[in-house]
Amino acid sequence: MERFKNKVAIVTGGGRGMGVAITNRLAAEGATVVLTYSKSRDQAEGVAAKINASGGRALAVEADSANPQAIIDAVATTITEFGKIDMLVNNAGIYIGKDFEDHTLEDYEQIMAVNVRAVYVASLAAVKHIPAGGRIITIGSNMAVSALSPQTTLYTMSKAALAGFTRGLARDLGNKEITVNLVQPGPIDTDMNRPDTDHADFLKSRMALSEYGTGDDIAGLVAYLASDEGKFITGTAITIDGGLNA
Ligand code: NDP
Repeated sequence: MERFKNKVAIVTGGGRGMGVAITNRLAAEGATVVLTYSKSRDQAEGVAAKINASGGRALAVEADSANPQAIIDAVATTITEFGKIDMLVNNAGIYIGKDFEDHTLEDYEQIMAVNVRAVYVASLAAVKHIPAGGRIITIGSNMAVSALSPQTTLYTMSKAALAGFTRGLARDLGNKEITVNLVQPGPIDTDMNRPDTDHADFLKSRMALSEYGTGDDIAGLVAYLASDEGKFITGTAITIDGGLNA
């Protein structure tokens, strides 16, 4: 399938975890992918090298999502290198889980900078380069709908903010034929959420499907939303969580 031939995508945090699956899926379907990283340079460059070696096109770019200028620069690099942006996938995210009494202002600043502000900044920087038919897809969390357990206040707040952003931006960009959607994964096997912990057992016990999902499960939905088939879907949040919130 070459659904994304001649399309250019940015995947933030595309070198590790779910981001790798999204990057690989879009590239496998013909997209040129710019994947950003902050700490995981080797992994991100490895992902890009593998895509390039197999006939695709990818570029790993250092861009700390907590730094607005770095995001703006990554968008500028994409334009310099590839001339446009058809899809922006806001995937990079962090989790801070602790008792509420132990929270600090720094925790708040950190999580909001990466999980929320970066999404706003990347969308703002990219939108002027996104043509009709373009896509902005953000990775939220099922926890925006159901927090499920203690110690999740900050993360849940940050991911809930993305639903409002998505609805508003869909209205702003509808007349440009750009769709804006939020994908809300449940438990997915990555470094952020290992399936072999006590907490994982609790989550599995609450899931209709009882098993963690994979990055490929999320990448499949992202690819659908990015494709022509997804052209009538905008301003919505789609939860993909093995029935955890059911
Ligand atoms: P991982 O921790 O496995 O990977 C996180 C990714 O985000 C890495 O590529 C990382 O790159 C990047 N990232 C983190 N901080 C920054 C930063 N400051 N600047 C740039 N990139 C950054 O997590 P997942 O793959 O699981 O998470 C991906 C997304 O999915 C996140 O938004 C997360 O909140 C969300 N999610 C995950 C769930 C799960 O169960 N795994 C469930 C629901 C949502 P680097 O190492 O270079 O910093």
